[in-house]
Amino acid sequence: MTITYSIIAPIFNEFDNLPELYRRVRDVMDSTAEPWELILVDDGSTDHSTDRIHELAEKDDRVRPIVFARNFGHQIAVTAGLDYARGDAAVIIDADLQDPPEVILELAKKWKEGYEVVYAVRAEREGESWFKLFTASLFYRLIYRITDVKIPLDTGDFRLIDRKVINVMNSMREKHRFLRGMGAWVGFKQIGVPYKREARFSGVTKYPFSKMLKLALNAITGFSYFPLQLATYFGFISAGISILCIPLVIIERLTGNQAFYGQATTLIAVLFLGGVQLISLGVLGEYLGRIYDEVKGRPLYIVREAPQKEKVQE
Ligand code: UDP
Ligand code: MG
Repeated sequence: MTITYSIIAPIFNEFDNLPELYRRVRDVMDSTAEPWELILVDDGSTDHSTDRIHELAEKDDRVRPIVFARNFGHQIAVTAGLDYARGDAAVIIDADLQDPPEVILELAKKWKEGYEVVYAVRAEREGESWFKLFTASLFYRLIYRITDVKIPLDTGDFRLIDRKVINVMNSMREKHRFLRGMGAWVGFKQIGVPYKREARFSGVTKYPFSKMLKLALNAITGFSYFPLQLATYFGFISAGISILCIPLVIIERLTGNQAFYGQATTLIAVLFLGGVQLISLGVLGEYLGRIYDEVKGRPLYIVREAPQKEKVQE
C-alpha cells in the first residue's frame, strides 16, 4: 500500500500528551481520506511514554513506533522518523501539541499546489516565557545573519516535505544536525504558512537552555565559517593597531613622555590578546570536535525497536 502522509513526532517524556496527539492527528488525517502513518520516535523516554506508544500501536496499526536505546536528542529523533517514513510527504510535528495538527491540512494544500517544502511560520506564540521568546528570536536572527543559507525567520521544524526532499535529506548523514538549515540548504520550491503556536498541552519543555545552546552551536558551525574567520579579523585589527602604535610610541619617547609605559597598559593588552587567543582556540575546538565526530563514523542513533525499513520509491 502506498502511503501519502508520514507524520513524524519525536517523543521525550510526553506521557500525558500522547493520547491527545494521536486523537488529533487521527481526526485531521482521516479527514483527508488519504492513507497516512504516524511515526512516534521514542527518544529514550523514562516516563512510560514507551508503553503508551505501544498501546497506541496495538490499537491502530497506522501508528509505527521507533524506540531509541537512549536519548539522542530531538533532531536525531526526527532524522530517524524521516529514515523510516514511507509517505509521499512527511510532516514533522512536536508531540506536545504546540504545533496544532489541524495546520497540516494547510501545509498539505500548498504541497498539492506543487511546493516541495512547506514550513510553518510562528506568527504568534502562546504560553512561553519571555526568556524563551527572547532567546528564540535572537537565535533566528543571528543564524539568518551569519549563516550562508537563508533559513526562514521564526520557523521551527514543523513542516511538510516532499519525498524528493526526504530522500536528499536522508542522504545527508552529518552527525551534528540542524534540520532547518539542511532543509533550507537543499533548495527546492519552498513556501511558508503562518500559524499560531499554542501553549504546551501538558508537561514542561524538554529543551532546557543547555540543549538550546547546543542546537544554536550546531546551527552556526554547520552552516557558517564566520566564527573561524573572526580570529582572522581580530588578528588584522590588533596587528593594525600595533603598527599604528609604533610611530606613536617613538614620538612619545622622543618627547620625553614616559606615561605611556605603565604596567596597566601592558597588562590589559596581554590579557586582552590572551583572551582573544583562547576564544579562537575554543572556536577551533568546536569545529575540530565536530570533524572528530564525523570521522568516527558512528551511527546517528541506535534503535532498540523499529519497524521493518521498506524501500521507498526514489
Ligand atoms: N524532544 C525529543 N528529544 C529531546 C528533547 C525534546 O524528542 O531530547 C521532543 C519533545 O518530546 C517534543 C519536541 O522534541 O515533541 C519539542 O520539544 P519541546 O516541546 O520540549 O521544545 P520547545 O517546544 O519547548 O522548544
Ligand atoms: Mg514544545
